Amino acid sequence: MEVKVHKIGNVEDCDRRVVRIVHISDTHMRHNDYIDHLPHGDILVHSGDFSAFSIGRYFGNKTSDRDRVIDEINKFFGKVNFEHKVFVPGNHELSFDVNTKAYIEERLTDVHYLQDSSINIEGINIYGSPWNSKRWTSYARGFAKNANKLIKHWNLIPKQTDILVTHLPPEGILDLATKKFSGLKNLFSRNSACDVCCSSHEAYEHWGCKDLRNIILKGVRPTLHLFGHVHEDTGIQEIDGITFSNAALKINQTINVFDYYI
Ligand SMILES: [Zn+2]
Ligand SMILES: [Zn+2]
Repeated sequence: MEVKVHKIGNVEDCDRRVVRIVHISDTHMRHNDYIDHLPHGDILVHSGDFSAFSIGRYFGNKTSDRDRVIDEINKFFGKVNFEHKVFVPGNHELSFDVNTKAYIEERLTDVHYLQDSSINIEGINIYGSPWNSKRWTSYARGFAKNANKLIKHWNLIPKQTDILVTHLPPEGILDLATKKFSGLKNLFSRNSACDVCCSSHEAYEHWGCKDLRNIILKGVRPTLHLFGHVHEDTGIQEIDGITFSNAALKINQTINVFDYYI
């Protein structure tokens, strides 16, 4: 598999220590397909939705089956060869939402679990938050709240964060998803420019959060923001000196890899 490495941080100063970060997301129970082609790195970050679209389809449909997902996640991180591993859950992690953070932390022995918390690895401050906005068309509502209630979680992000990991994208950045029932809606709408990005995309809508975008660009200003959730708009984008990475289900494509010059 092709590996294209994106340089971030103090790139001009070649005496800097370099830490390689590999970002994956939304593996939806296809994690074993990733194992053989994960590029080498120092830190592996998974930004949520490890669980299947339907847990019932993957295991059974009982509470104990949901619990088995937690073991499966731990097993995966135990197998992959990285010095440091970080996991932030997403809206499909229904088995997490029903348990306490302490319980999950105790079960995940082979990975650093971040839920509104941070960790310093190799001198880099990494903060993780699983929160996302509730959508009426989705049953997967782990860590999901109404969009206007998310700000209280974003306000917890420390100012000295170098790498921010969320499941949800910021509004207008790698966050365009196909509208459900767009054909029906289009009957009643004209081809007008979008308020967020000023382009016209009648069949797509922005799933990202406006408050998250404001806090990142105007407040926290991390070097790197890693997220997933929107499978159709993956990639890497740089805005105003901050690098954004959406790695959702990039199973047969180039994996997002960064060299962080500290
Ligand atoms: Zn738009
Ligand atoms: Zn998701």
